Amino acid sequence: MALYQLKDKPGFEYLSTPWKAINYPAIRKVFVTHQHADHIGGLEEMALTNTFVFKDSKTGKPFKAELISTINILVNLWDHSLKGGLNTIQNRYALLQDYFFIRALICQPGKNQFAVGPYLFEIFPTDHVHIERKYDWPSYGLYICDPQRGRSAFFSGDTRFDYPAYMQMMDKADVCFHDCQLFDQPDAVHASLNECLSLPEQLRKKTYLYHYGDNYDDKTGEKPVSNFKGFARAHVRYKLF
Ligand SMILES: [Zn+2]
Ligand SMILES: [Zn+2]
Repeated sequence: MALYQLKDKPGFEYLSTPWKAINYPAIRKVFVTHQHADHIGGLEEMALTNTFVFKDSKTGKPFKAELISTINILVNLWDHSLKGGLNTIQNRYALLQDYFFIRALICQPGKNQFAVGPYLFEIFPTDHVHIERKYDWPSYGLYICDPQRGRSAFFSGDTRFDYPAYMQMMDKADVCFHDCQLFDQPDAVHASLNECLSLPEQLRKKTYLYHYGDNYDDKTGEKPVSNFKGFARAHVRYKLF
């Protein structure tokens, strides 16, 4: 629904077809941070629409975007989330690679990054949900940099508050995006607003908060977001650097 509305906003016309549907082939690459539905929920529709509605203009075959994540997330994504709706195409069985070109990363030096044009995207593990211990359920954030200009951006993915793990990247980045829930909760799986308020001031001033609840504009409890660069807003394009 967010994408459907975004295509009608100024500057996002490329996301719309002439017949006012979502122009899925405009999305050429998708990075999956982790397997929660709020992060992968649109992939089944994207896969089916690209396969049955759109053609790759060069090959004439169904359009395939590139799907990028770690091997463990990609395997689980298919087995536990997408297979139910996608494993049968009319008259035959199908696999993830029938719908997407797959780029599998490993969270190890040298295998933990991909490039898009001049930009480098490096993944790092985030402390989101535990099975038994930290990092045992795969979840990743992104450090995006332009090596030629020495500029960079930090994107936390979904994470608990773990400033020591992200300090160096956040320090170096020109802009940061950190997930944040507005309430405190024991053993939460997201950083809380109060925890984010404990970040050093120079980091807060370049950090947008996202992943906040729908009650963010509830006037009864003023949220001290003026201490940050602000809430990241839906349907707004942010210049990274
Ligand atoms: Zn999550
Ligand atoms: Zn989430």
